[in-house]
Amino acid sequence: MTCAFDLAHYRELLDAAHAGGYRWAFFDHEPRPGDLFLRHDVDMSLEAALAFAELEAERGAAATYFLMTRSDFYNLASRSGERALSRLRELGHRVGLHGVHPDATFDERFDPVLAWHTPEPEYMSRPVEGAVNVMQPPWFDPAHYRSDSNQRWRSGCPHDDLRAGRFEWLQLLVHPEIWLYPGATMRETMLAYLEADRDAKLRLMLENRIDLS
Ligand SMILES: [Zn+2]
Ligand SMILES: [Zn+2]
Repeated sequence: MTCAFDLAHYRELLDAAHAGGYRWAFFDHEPRPGDLFLRHDVDMSLEAALAFAELEAERGAAATYFLMTRSDFYNLASRSGERALSRLRELGHRVGLHGVHPDATFDERFDPVLAWHTPEPEYMSRPVEGAVNVMQPPWFDPAHYRSDSNQRWRSGCPHDDLRAGRFEWLQLLVHPEIWLYPGATMRETMLAYLEADRDAKLRLMLENRIDLS
């Protein structure tokens, strides 16, 4: 099996988790044996998040999507942002806040769960008022955590360990954008994202009555 950052291997990861007997868990209780906290930090693309949400729902998986209210790349308050939020809920996923420190303003769009965007070590695991910070113990523990940041698994791709049930429980952080768009390197993948984003923006221009004739 090649551990490519593509949809085929993402499906294999989900299937491995299923084969390992894990249960899809949300951050509304402390970790229990068999829990798999599937976490998506959505940094750039709601389209990528929705593609993942559909794929997971088809396979009976559920995740927590951490969405930004202050993203440099998308607007959650836009019509497409509202559509994305309601579709994620419809598919049975949860929605948390992907916050830009120190702003942890929750409203009715979010469950009380927070993941900081590009956190600094001094506040990364600090508890926050009224919400679970996913990087605070007991939800975060290095032995029970795998992350795909910038297409690099810090402790290896977890598919084998998931299939064998070797984690007592796991928090698995996956960024949809770096799997959905094709490319052999992170840079190529990001350029493919920009191409797709250009097409999406052209469609939005029509929706916003921009004359492209
Ligand atoms: Zn793998
Ligand atoms: Zn982020």
